[in-house]
Amino acid sequence: MNDVSILIVEDEQRLADILKRQLEESGFTAEIAYDGYVGKQLAEKKNYDLIILDINLPLINGYDLCREIRRTNNRTPIIMLTAFGTSENKLAGFDAGADDYVVKPFDFRELLARVNVFLRRADYGREQSEKIRLADLEMDMKTKSVTRAGRKIDLTAKESLLLETFLRNKDKLLSREFIIERVWGIDFDPNTNIIDVYVNYLRKKIDRDFEPKLIHTKFGFGFYCSDREI
Ligand code: CA
Repeated sequence: MNDVSILIVEDEQRLADILKRQLEESGFTAEIAYDGYVGKQLAEKKNYDLIILDINLPLINGYDLCREIRRTNNRTPIIMLTAFGTSENKLAGFDAGADDYVVKPFDFRELLARVNVFLRRADYGREQSEKIRLADLEMDMKTKSVTRAGRKIDLTAKESLLLETFLRNKDKLLSREFIIERVWGIDFDPNTNIIDVYVNYLRKKIDRDFEPKLIHTKFGFGFYCSDREI
């Protein structure tokens, strides 16, 4: 994997510098932003392969920065560095659009293992960029045509966008707010049940007559799309 560039957004200078050195020793190119504002500028300007993002940052905190990045970029994996391993922290990170988290203090090998998982996945994603597959479901991202077990499935525009949102974030917990923002827009009332209505429409079309079920409800949080329970 040549020329893989990683952005580190971390205000603890010593930790950031050590991370950069260790990533470079592992063969990556790494850049540091010591605050959220510079992090935002770099993330918008350059096409990083992965972003390591601290939560407590000057100027823009990690959750807000993650949301900002996700407005325009759903592609770059983001690993959050959190000082607390509580489920509230993890959910807040996932809610903001992070792909994974590492709890401080961490062993660099643990972080490196996760970095490698995401880079492999991203690499696979590039090869398959035209189509996203999950079990026997396939969606062509150009034409938006969908098949399951080889059978063509007709979706309305909103159903299609909902499925695309699920597939582009497969195996990740998605909050109701996250889904509504992407499918219906930010001005939409998150308390509406429209999302449940559309998830039911989509389930009837892609899950009812098939196994395994791909759309799962996480009670009290939201939904996820996966061929297994997470
Ligand atoms: Ca910090």
